[in-house]
Amino acid sequence: MTQFQDLGLSPTVLKAATSAGYESPTPIQQKAIPIVLEGRDIMGLAQTGSGKTAAFGLPIIDKLLNVDGRPRSKEIRALILAPTRELVAQIADNLRSYVRHTHLRIGMVVGGTSINVQQKNLGRGTDILVATPGRLLDLVERRAVHLNSAKFLVLDEADQMLDLGFIHDLRKISKLVGTPRQTLLFSATMPKLIEELSRSYLNDPVRVETSPPGRAVDKVTQSVHFVHQTAKTEKLKECLAEREDDLSLVFSRTKHGAERLMKHLVQCGHKATSIHGNKSQGQRTRAINEFRSGQVRILVATDVAARGIDIPGVTHVYNFDLPDVAEAYVHRIGRTARAGAKGEAVAFCAPEEVHLLGEVERLMGMSIPTASGGFTDQEIANAPKKGKGRAGRSGNRSNNRSRPGAKSSKRGSAHGRGGAQSAGEAGKPNTSHGKPRRSNRKRQGASAVAR
Ligand code: AMP
Repeated sequence: MTQFQDLGLSPTVLKAATSAGYESPTPIQQKAIPIVLEGRDIMGLAQTGSGKTAAFGLPIIDKLLNVDGRPRSKEIRALILAPTRELVAQIADNLRSYVRHTHLRIGMVVGGTSINVQQKNLGRGTDILVATPGRLLDLVERRAVHLNSAKFLVLDEADQMLDLGFIHDLRKISKLVGTPRQTLLFSATMPKLIEELSRSYLNDPVRVETSPPGRAVDKVTQSVHFVHQTAKTEKLKECLAEREDDLSLVFSRTKHGAERLMKHLVQCGHKATSIHGNKSQGQRTRAINEFRSGQVRILVATDVAARGIDIPGVTHVYNFDLPDVAEAYVHRIGRTARAGAKGEAVAFCAPEEVHLLGEVERLMGMSIPTASGGFTDQEIANAPKKGKGRAGRSGNRSNNRSRPGAKSSKRGSAHGRGGAQSAGEAGKPNTSHGKPRRSNRKRQGASAVAR
């Protein structure tokens, strides 16, 4: 078995891996570390939770330890960009633990906290700066930081950065970072735009892949309950009651939906909290800490707020609402089964979401086993338009998930190809309606969360 000692890291950095409690390198670390040490660019395709941070962090630290002198005021030596504040904080935390016994200084800039403090800190010079793109550009405009001193650029969760509308910011930043430089791009999925991005930003990159794109972490057990929107809350409570001691992350489509669901769960006696774009940075940090420590057992979250958060003990991920974009499903379920642990991903699928489930299954190249329920083709065809008049709001639908006869057609529908068509054929466009809504949501997410 490959050991950290086999990868070419210096004794100081090996000590950092050991003090972090890492016994042996994960597959992405085995592949990426020697390539980074060699000085090559990387196009890395790796799931969240695969140990990516150390895969780029340890060799960059190794190289920076060999650079003479300290960075001058406003200078940085390596820049790591990530899509959300939470992810930036998490990467910075990990890096700080790796450099504990060295002179290297890790900095962090994200929106939602004082820009003046960040400006002051940058004035002292930074070895590795971890940043969200929006706030970084604000600081560049203030001339608080010189990016041309950076010789390493890491784009982490690049697909999510594009999803959140950061493409223009990334282009600007990439031009400001020094050359020659080493660029490492990591993404959990490989949409076309990422390929284009990698062609324009990377120099003869080595492609590093640890699991096929779009595949869920193997250790996640997945299942789906076919359940009407109005019956989802009861279903969730049933599931939670069976597993009171577990740590459950529940994904909701909207900020308001997340808040409403969390309040309801609390009223019912559950220890729950929430994170979404309407919460302040302090509230979010508190919620994540309470969840991490097990003080609360349920965290209700929206995609953007939960992106990349690393809470090793998460045992269950509930897709209370299926995501509009299939790739988000892979990110969500990657929140469990972290670093070798086991985890369960439970999806709730309403008739109007059957086509979304189909997209998820197509992306992952597998069908998700049914845990309960099912819909007739008629129910799927009659489902309300996506994003409009969702059953959760109208509140007048009955709970039909166990209706007899539904079972026979449910798998066909659940496999989505038929379901997606049925919805479309019945005059339920999922393109003209879905797309503008989606991009609006993303734009809001990008400005509200990451800047
Ligand atoms: P990441 O994908 O970087 O977010 O890492 C996910 C989790 O795995 C974090 O809690 C890391 O501390 C942990 N981790 C990273 N590398 C290793 C390793 N080689 N052995 C055990 N845990 C690790």
